[in-house]
Amino acid sequence: MARTKLPNTLAFRLTLWYAGIFTLSSAVAFLLFYLLITGFMRTQTDQDLLSQANRFSTLMASEGIDAVRSLAIVEAQAAGVKKVFFRFLSPDGQVFSSSNMSYWKNITVTERAVQAVLYDHRPFLETISAPDHPEQIRILYAMISPLIILQVGQTMESYDRFLNAFKGFFIGTMTLLTLVAAGVGWFMARRAVSGVEAVTRTARKIAAGTLEERVPTTGRGDEIDRLALTFNQMLDRIQTLLTEIREMTDHIAHDLRSPLTRIRGTAEVTLTTAETLGEYETMAAGTIEECDRLLDIINTMLLISKTESGVGPMTIGEIDLVRLVQEACELFSPMAEDKGIRLKCELPEKAVLAGDLRMIQRLLSNLLDNAIKYTLENGEVHITLEEKEKDWVLRVRDTGIGISSEDLPHILERFYRCDQSRSQEGVGLGLSLAVAFARAHGGDILVESRPNQGSTFRVILPKSHSGIKNLSASNITHL
Ligand code: ADP
Repeated sequence: MARTKLPNTLAFRLTLWYAGIFTLSSAVAFLLFYLLITGFMRTQTDQDLLSQANRFSTLMASEGIDAVRSLAIVEAQAAGVKKVFFRFLSPDGQVFSSSNMSYWKNITVTERAVQAVLYDHRPFLETISAPDHPEQIRILYAMISPLIILQVGQTMESYDRFLNAFKGFFIGTMTLLTLVAAGVGWFMARRAVSGVEAVTRTARKIAAGTLEERVPTTGRGDEIDRLALTFNQMLDRIQTLLTEIREMTDHIAHDLRSPLTRIRGTAEVTLTTAETLGEYETMAAGTIEECDRLLDIINTMLLISKTESGVGPMTIGEIDLVRLVQEACELFSPMAEDKGIRLKCELPEKAVLAGDLRMIQRLLSNLLDNAIKYTLENGEVHITLEEKEKDWVLRVRDTGIGISSEDLPHILERFYRCDQSRSQEGVGLGLSLAVAFARAHGGDILVESRPNQGSTFRVILPKSHSGIKNLSASNITHL
């Protein structure tokens, strides 16, 4: 089988998803952090500028324009003439005084800002970039008296420095995080899919013909472990089915071979030795008898298969179980009497079942036939019918030869016959057919037995028909 290309593997796609989601979430976290810090820094700068404007406005009110002018020069020198400047504007936007402006020649007065301050009577803030200034500049316009507007500007040096440092940090950290996320993602994805790969490897070996292979399980009980367990259980089931099919084929071959050999032998002997028409007639009659036997086996097998798969048609009707059991007892009592067996029947007044009459009749006659067949002289066969919640429980108990604990788990299988019953007539399909019929009615047959003491077959039949039940090994109870 061709190897899957890396981009098509689940591990690769999981890694991509993991790295992608991790990188995206980290980038969002970084962005939020960036917005928070820059917002905070800008607020800080704005507050500095506003408090400067307040100081100038107070000084203007108390000491007049000259004091304000000198304060502007002193303040600009103290903070650094390259960092701060002050300009005083008349209401028409003309500059009539300023601090040292040699470094700020390109900074003009924004008409819109002057208008906004004049009409709204509120300070106006803007951020600008000037060609000969490496950093951005934050500028405040505010009225410090009814006729004077203060324009104060400050470089956003720390803001820009933070921005540059952040950019470097962001790129470096994001690259590292993405690589780590991809590495961790790859490791985790490989670990996660390794179990699936083990299942695939085993499936491949099985496809090559080794059905004994099983997927190793870790016992952790996680999803992969459960997948492996389910896969192994499925393999066990397939193996059991294959063994059963093999055994059944052997049985069929064996059971068909004996009558065919007999037919052939008789025909050969007749051909070589027979002299009269009577001998030929005897051969033909024997052949018909053997063929009937063969046909009976084949038809029963087909009936079991059809019933088990639900293909066989069922004629559901109301069955009077009491009458059905009584009739069966009457039918079998001569056979029981011949063998010196007591046949006892214990039935309720009324028992009605929704089911297929012919199926239930055949089921019961198979059980009664077995009970009488495998019970010795002076034994007893006891039939009871009881109501248990939603079911009718039909019990056929005998005091016969019983079934050994080795045979008990198999007697419901097709063609299975216990060794001690080989001398009796039969092919080992009677119980399989009975179980198939019971299950077709949504019921089942449970067996309890002890060698030399007898057996009890319990037929559970739901009063109302509810479909087919699956085969299970729990039908057998060892007494
Ligand atoms: P068979 O045609 O051999 O009777 P069945 O399917 O009816 O086939 O039964 C399968 C085997 O189960 C029988 O060969 C017999 O060994 C055993 N068995 C069935 N019923 C009884 C019983 N009542 N007592 C003892 N053994 C039984």
